[in-house]
Amino acid sequence: MPRPRLCRRVGFQPDVTYFKPAGIRKTDMEESILAVDEFEAVRLKDLEDLDQSECAKKMDISQPTFHRLILSARKKIADAIVNGKAIKISGGVFKMVEPGVGRMGRGMGFGGPAINCVCPECGHKEQKIRGVPCISKKCPRCSTLMIRGD
Ligand SMILES: [Zn+2]
Repeated sequence: MPRPRLCRRVGFQPDVTYFKPAGIRKTDMEESILAVDEFEAVRLKDLEDLDQSECAKKMDISQPTFHRLILSARKKIADAIVNGKAIKISGGVFKMVEPGVGRMGRGMGFGGPAINCVCPECGHKEQKIRGVPCISKKCPRCSTLMIRGD
């Protein structure tokens, strides 16, 4: 069994999870995969202008962890912009904030039991993203296609 990682709390479910540079055929395109917790770090710090301690608190992680997360997120975004890669928002270890908490949640059915996608190869588990079938996602550790778990 892989060691469980701490869940990062995420208060925003992106509607768009794929950004593609114009004029590049999908087959010629590389992807930069941004985990949902990395995406959330950028959203809180760079878009909402919260300071680092607030961001860390919101995500239930330590400040050094938050710092690593945002550096890695910015690097992936920069890599995509500079090198013409697509950005895919997928995976990561996180849990959604309960609906109705603050102005997050957006009342779009984040309640109820969370559904996970599981890697049949290494057992890696992550929360299923709404509207994205597990089978269309690859395990971030071993690139096996994920299956729907419980
Ligand atoms: Zn795996």
